[in-house]
Amino acid sequence: MKSNKPVCVTGASGFIAAHIVRELLERGYRVRGTVRKSPQSYPFLLGLPGAAERLELVEADLLAAGSYDQAVEGCDYVMHTASPYKINVENPQVDLVDPALHGTETLLESCLKSGDVKRVIFTSSIAAITDEPDSKKVFTEKDWNIMSSLDRNPYHYSKTVAELAAWDFIMKKRPAFDLVAINPFMVIGPSLGPSLNTSNQIIRDIMIGVYPCIMDLNWGFVDVRDVAKAHIFAMETDTASGRYLCSAESIHMRDLVAQLKSSGFRGYALPKIDLSGKIGTLLMKALSFTQPKDTGAYIRINIGRTMRYDNSKIRRELALSFIPIKKSLTEAVNDMVKWGHLTSQQR
Ligand code: NDP
Repeated sequence: MKSNKPVCVTGASGFIAAHIVRELLERGYRVRGTVRKSPQSYPFLLGLPGAAERLELVEADLLAAGSYDQAVEGCDYVMHTASPYKINVENPQVDLVDPALHGTETLLESCLKSGDVKRVIFTSSIAAITDEPDSKKVFTEKDWNIMSSLDRNPYHYSKTVAELAAWDFIMKKRPAFDLVAINPFMVIGPSLGPSLNTSNQIIRDIMIGVYPCIMDLNWGFVDVRDVAKAHIFAMETDTASGRYLCSAESIHMRDLVAQLKSSGFRGYALPKIDLSGKIGTLLMKALSFTQPKDTGAYIRINIGRTMRYDNSKIRRELALSFIPIKKSLTEAVNDMVKWGHLTSQQR
């Protein structure tokens, strides 16, 4: 029998949060999700199984002090997922850092005021662990991103300062609740709502020829349904503590394209020319300066280098097992076709 107290999920309209809401409802929890528009704007949430009886949507904004007071009232558990996930913004301080950082502080202040909250599960990111592969290193939860700034990978910077502020809050204010952070790598998979998420968009961009060739790039991937489970296991496991790096496997762009081809998605403009060798990498580094600022910087920092990381803590302590990424990729593409993000004109 589940507690009758709602679990609060901030940014319920988001790609990851919507899956957390769905999974919580499926497991019999009551859910209070925060959104930025009126609840009727989110039929994909209101139509989830169990939503009519157990989902409540309330409005809140990361930039408005006290905005989460009502949302966390009477909740034992709060999942803080709301934060802007965008690359190539105009004003990194205003568009990314302010909502990520002040939003985290505002939310934690609301939890402190409420006196009910037992645990906050914070959606952080690999971005708070590092923004740069290191050939000599396997990254773990002990690592912190010390390289990003407003000028270099500002999204990574926003996630780092927000997570640091959350731990700092716990250290200084010693609240009655504890904090657990989930640090996912690139999250892909089917979307419950109509928006195209930044991480699925990378797959779409590969499909429609935004990347003209195969580059020496690799990404760690994790299925959105596993990220949702990670949050719920972090809530349900009393002994959960600290940070959890959440990534299933790393895939080179060459293998990603091959997997997409082998899944039958041949009609799209998947890159054919393989420039993942040394000369191609030099060429791509030079061409990266023709890309939007943050995309160019990302390519220069990551190309030719493999990110290695250890996901054993989340498998061991939260008993999380991962959906194979080949399945997530296929389902993400089929889902983008379904929502109209990948149309026949782009084939
Ligand atoms: P989405 O863009 O789908 O979701 C972001 C959510 O944050 C939305 O609900 C959005 O609301 C909300 N939000 C943004 N700005 C504000 C604001 N000022 N006030 C209130 N809510 C706001 O992204 P994801 O689901 O992918 O990301 C969710 C979290 O997971 C983020 O913290 C992100 O950094 C993190 N993450 C994502 C990864 C990925 O690969 N997708 C990887 C690692 C971490 P609205 O719908 O109104 O815009």
